Amino acid sequence: MAETIKTQVLVIGGGPGGYIAGIRAGQLGLDTVLVDNGPLGGCCLNVGCIPSKALIHVADEFHRIGTRNGQDSEIGLSVAPPQLDLAQTVTWKNGIVTRLNKGVDGLLKKAKTRTVRGWAQLIDGKTARVDTAAGRVDVRADYVIIATGSLPAALPGLPFGGDVMSSTEALSLAAVPKTLAVVGGGYIGMELGTAYAKMGAKVTIIEAADRVLATYDAALTRPVVQRLAALGVELRTNCFAKGVENGTLTVEQDGQKDHIDAEKVLVTVGRTPATQGWGLEGLDLVMEGPFIQVDGRCRTSMSGVYAIGDVTGNPMLAHRAMAQGEMVAEVIAGDRRAWDKRAIPEICFTDPELVQVGQSEAAATADGISVVVGQFPFLANGRAMTMEDEAGFVKIIARAEDHLILGFQAVGAHVAELSAQFALALEMGACLEDVAGTIHAHPTKSEGVLEAALSALGHPLHI
Ligand code: FAD
Repeated sequence: MAETIKTQVLVIGGGPGGYIAGIRAGQLGLDTVLVDNGPLGGCCLNVGCIPSKALIHVADEFHRIGTRNGQDSEIGLSVAPPQLDLAQTVTWKNGIVTRLNKGVDGLLKKAKTRTVRGWAQLIDGKTARVDTAAGRVDVRADYVIIATGSLPAALPGLPFGGDVMSSTEALSLAAVPKTLAVVGGGYIGMELGTAYAKMGAKVTIIEAADRVLATYDAALTRPVVQRLAALGVELRTNCFAKGVENGTLTVEQDGQKDHIDAEKVLVTVGRTPATQGWGLEGLDLVMEGPFIQVDGRCRTSMSGVYAIGDVTGNPMLAHRAMAQGEMVAEVIAGDRRAWDKRAIPEICFTDPELVQVGQSEAAATADGISVVVGQFPFLANGRAMTMEDEAGFVKIIARAEDHLILGFQAVGAHVAELSAQFALALEMGACLEDVAGTIHAHPTKSEGVLEAALSALGHPLHI
């Protein structure tokens, strides 16, 4: 006979959205059960954010040492040619993932949230049937939080399998392929394509639109495109992948068929919300396109049923899922919370890195706002010079009438670390004068932010 667990809160999915909801609900004293069929941490921790950044780090190290070899004595270093053992890299990466899996498990236990391991099938708006290794468990809850996440989207002519990979397989290859075709020039394809190029693969990126990273301003992506060219990556825009056979990818560009050598093909054409196979159809929830529709408190159209994370829409990012997870637990606990975020930073861990937070100049102008902008190039930044990486800039966009900051953009080495400063300024309603009046430590790349604000005010000091 099936075991039945009665609880206040049932969380389906243990990714960044679900596990944060589970931890916070437990902290708030709510009896909580979290169900997940895989290792804790979801896509982000197991096959997304963390593994991709681990691979990018190794690729960067390998490439950096390799380019020093035999030709760069300017800074006084000499090194031997590096060797890369990708299988060992993957073992190291898996070790990080396991540490984090255990960390999430420990945090849930500390919050007194129970976990049930298995696939959950919702049989009504309050009950999930879970097939666990030890048999069937029915979990009956007052509140349900759906946090089922997303899955890689496939292309009709290029189904996953064999040498056609999603990002998941690309993060666990045993050896670097000689040739790699990346279909889709969004952030995942660009990050992994760059990493494999640095590890020695001949990479071709195929993008259907007229430019890669189309959600970022063209000026911001220019240094990335230049770096790809320097790495020998071939970029094909307005190009459509049609099918693959015996290591050759067929594409169509400007009405012409062409063939690209591709030992492996990585398809990164987006992600699909995980809405299949767990009983959504029986709940009859109101949808918004392919996503579950939620309101400002992450409530779905069914009373007592909440949804968070990738299954609820864009931007499909871990930090959005986590913020929703924290909020929804507090809403269920009775707090007067609602989604009031002004900014969700978007980062692309390419070379160089990209960050955008808030409104771009074009978006603000399209909204009829009169803006002032300031920009500062890293080639005038001392820290960038000492790091031998002067590509990129910081840009700040503010409302002309009162200097309220509307957005930030940055491209450059390690600018991902500036994203918190950007988001904080937007959340606090900072003006240009607030940033300009804040002492920024020297020598740091953050001085570029100060200088961009000064530039918008008309009196930059270092340019
Ligand atoms: P998920 O992380 O997808 O977790 C959902 C969980 O629910 C999974 O564990 C799944 O097994 C489980 N589940 C689903 N259905 C059921 C069921 N019926 N029963 C039991 N369990 C179920 N985001 C960033 O913010 N920064 C990055 O740098 C970044 N890099 C990425 C790189 C790659 C290669 C990829 C693929 C994604 C990346 N992302 C990044 C996106 C990020 O991983 C997702 O936005 C995030 O994981 C979404 O969290 P979630 O909680 O909504 O769902």
